[in-house]
Amino acid sequence: MRETTSDRSSPDERSGRPPASTEEADVIVVGAGPAGSSAAFHLAQAGVDVLLMEKSRFPREKVCGDGLTPRAVYQLIRMGVDIKAPGWMRSRGMRWVAGDHRVHIDWPGLGRYPDFGLSRSRHDFDDILARHAVAAGARLRDGVKVTRPETDRAGRVTGVGAVTEGQEPAVYRAPIVIAADGASARLALALGLERDRNRQIATAARRYYHSPERSEEEYLELWADLRFPGSDRYLPGYGWIFPMGDGRVNVGLGALPHRRYGTADLRAALDQWLARTPHGWGLREENAEGPVRSAALPLGFNRHPLYTRGLLLVGDSGGMISPWNGEGIAQAMEAGEVAAENAALALALPQGPRRERALHNYPVEMNRRWGRYYRLGNAAADLVFSRSGFQPVLNRYVMGSPFLLRMLARLLSNLTDQPSRDAIDHVLNTVVRLVPAPQVRRR
Ligand SMILES: Cc1cc2nc3c(=O)[nH]c(=O)nc-3n(C[C@H](O)[C@H](O)[C@H](O)COP(=O)(O)OP(=O)(O)OC[C@H]3O[C@@H](n4cnc5c(N)ncnc54)[C@H](O)[C@@H]3O)c2cc1C
Repeated sequence: MRETTSDRSSPDERSGRPPASTEEADVIVVGAGPAGSSAAFHLAQAGVDVLLMEKSRFPREKVCGDGLTPRAVYQLIRMGVDIKAPGWMRSRGMRWVAGDHRVHIDWPGLGRYPDFGLSRSRHDFDDILARHAVAAGARLRDGVKVTRPETDRAGRVTGVGAVTEGQEPAVYRAPIVIAADGASARLALALGLERDRNRQIATAARRYYHSPERSEEEYLELWADLRFPGSDRYLPGYGWIFPMGDGRVNVGLGALPHRRYGTADLRAALDQWLARTPHGWGLREENAEGPVRSAALPLGFNRHPLYTRGLLLVGDSGGMISPWNGEGIAQAMEAGEVAAENAALALALPQGPRRERALHNYPVEMNRRWGRYYRLGNAAADLVFSRSGFQPVLNRYVMGSPFLLRMLARLLSNLTDQPSRDAIDHVLNTVVRLVPAPQVRRR
């Protein structure tokens, strides 16, 4: 661990006193959610000295549905996380419910991804990932809240300022900082990286219920026919019931209402929906654990650029949740790995234009992976999902066709082989390839 006393730090904003001490690293990662812990793990694996800073102390809650698709399982496998250990609940696929229809779609058997999903409460999941990063060599500082980026005269990030309860504010220095601080995006905002105000904001709410009847289900259940409370209009989103395997289920709903329709009262929509479920499932007030909690979903690359002046945005801080299905854990982990690769490469190059080029490659690579797919998803969200939810795509015709259902499921969860191996791959990969690639913005 490199720890020095600093005489070059700027005075702390609140006290006016210079911060007492400085810790240094090659890379600072702010936030130990899936994005930050994955980035820290991959950096540590590459032999980089990495400091992982987290404002909470583990284990801690995070409002989430706790559902992991095969893309997320793939990232866990790449990190060597022991997913055979007790506590991981496997899923075989999805069950979609719409009106009188109820269909099961197994996760596809692809060459590139596993054919199963998982669920695990974020209370455990984030703790496991953070500990995994530490075991690989990352230095975790939890209970430390980052308050601002530190910059030099040219405006380049040189580290972060942070506070720990009961201690003097401190400055932590590194030539590269990864912002994995979630939807609040404090670091990005401090550098003037606002979210795209033209894009609608999705919100989601969840609650745990004791439900032995549903807790061991093999399928992640999704309801596509929820309505605005007290109205006939379909809610632009879906509800979920995810088995936790420990006697509980994670139940919630997410919505992306078009501006024209105003916001949706998620709590009321949840109550109205759960009243429709069979009594035996136990999704009633007396079986609830804790309150309904909700949070925003930053979707479809809604913040740009993903790299500027020494700062890389990863996961929710870069608006990386999929606009197709609201999934963000796999995306946060994959982006964390890509950010780590680019940062490790940059550190191997001399400071200056060559290092900058390597760092600028991060948004280029993210755009190459998801730019077209997200552009198409943002258009689908604007034109279809935010107005009528999934009803237009989950119509009677699609629900009655196993082929179309499998194709839709793979489109929504971005599960194809490349190069294509079957007809569905061919259709989906071709459609996405036809979308013009978005420009990578620089600042
Ligand atoms: C209700 C709901 C349900 C969802 N369900 C699913 C689902 O089932 N499957 C799925 O894949 N995705 C789901 N998502 C999305 C998913 O939760 C996020 O996309 C994912 O958590 C993003 O990971 P992240 O690491 O970028 O951010 P986060 O998980 O938010 O982690 C950010 C971390 O940074 C820390 N932090 C923040 N500010 C600071 C600071 N100033 N200093 C230090 N630390 C800081 C936070 O404490 C936190 O630990 C859901 C989201 C919601 C709201």
